[in-house]
This record gives sequence, structure tokens and C-alpha cells, in this order.
Amino acid sequence: MAEAIEFIRRVREEFGCKIHVLGVGGYEFIPVLRSLGVDSFDSTSWIHDARFGIVRVGKRAYSVRVRYRGKNPPLPEDFRCDCPACRLFFEDLRKNGVAGLRARALHNAWNLLKFVEEVSRMPPERALRLCRFRLVRRIVLERVVWRRLTASCAGC
Ligand SMILES: [Zn+2]
Repeated sequence: MAEAIEFIRRVREEFGCKIHVLGVGGYEFIPVLRSLGVDSFDSTSWIHDARFGIVRVGKRAYSVRVRYRGKNPPLPEDFRCDCPACRLFFEDLRKNGVAGLRARALHNAWNLLKFVEEVSRMPPERALRLCRFRLVRRIVLERVVWRRLTASCAGC
């Protein structure tokens, strides 16, 4: 992870170009990508989560299947959502098969877009606090944020 963070930092610093990160679009790393100044990324988490019966609300994961519940709490019975997907397929969220997969995938994709919008509006340092991995936060703070802050104070 430290190498990937350093690589992104160096590309940003040396080339100043737009950066797209392939396949690192999980909810824990989206705030990290924001704090690194990454311009875009792709993710399949929305459909992978749906396949395993997970419904996302913000970055929180809830399960609609007992079999895959694991560490995720069950989706509350009173859960409501007015996203475009749920307006069409809300009754299918808890179903098995293609109907359930479709409903969860579309809801999760919408939820992911809203999360990315929210994180994109945050200052990078604030976004970084959303990552629960302390080591990752520390690496980004030391190698990116601290450098950026000290560079802006170079003349004082
Ligand atoms: Zn929804």
C-alpha cells in the first residue's frame, strides 16, 4: 500500500497529469484516493456487494442474506430509500436470483455515486478521516498531506 501511495504521489508531483486508478474503488479507499488528488477510478464493488446480498447505505454494509451475513448487520426492516433504483425495484432488494441482484446492484451503484460526490466536496484531509485503516491514513498524512502543507509554507 505504501508503494502505491508513493507512486501516485510521485506521478502527481512529477507529471501533474490527470490520474485514473484502476480497480481501487472500495469505500475505504475512495477517501484515500480523494486525499491523493486522484481524478478518477473505477470500481465493481457495487455489483460484487450485490452478488453477496449486501446493500450499502453510505459506506455501511448491510446484509439481506443470512448465509453471507458475517460481520454485516441485517438490513433493518424499516429501511427505506428513494433512489431511482429503489423507486422501481425496492420490493426486490431482499430477493434471491436476478431480480434481487438487479435491485441491489442498481441501489449500490447509486449509493456509490452519492458517496463519491460527498467525498469529492470534502477537503482532502477531512476525506482521509473516513478511511478506517489507521496505517493507510498515517502513510498518506506523512507522504502527501504533510509535504503539501510544508511546500505551501516554503516562503514563510
Ligand atoms: Zn436505493
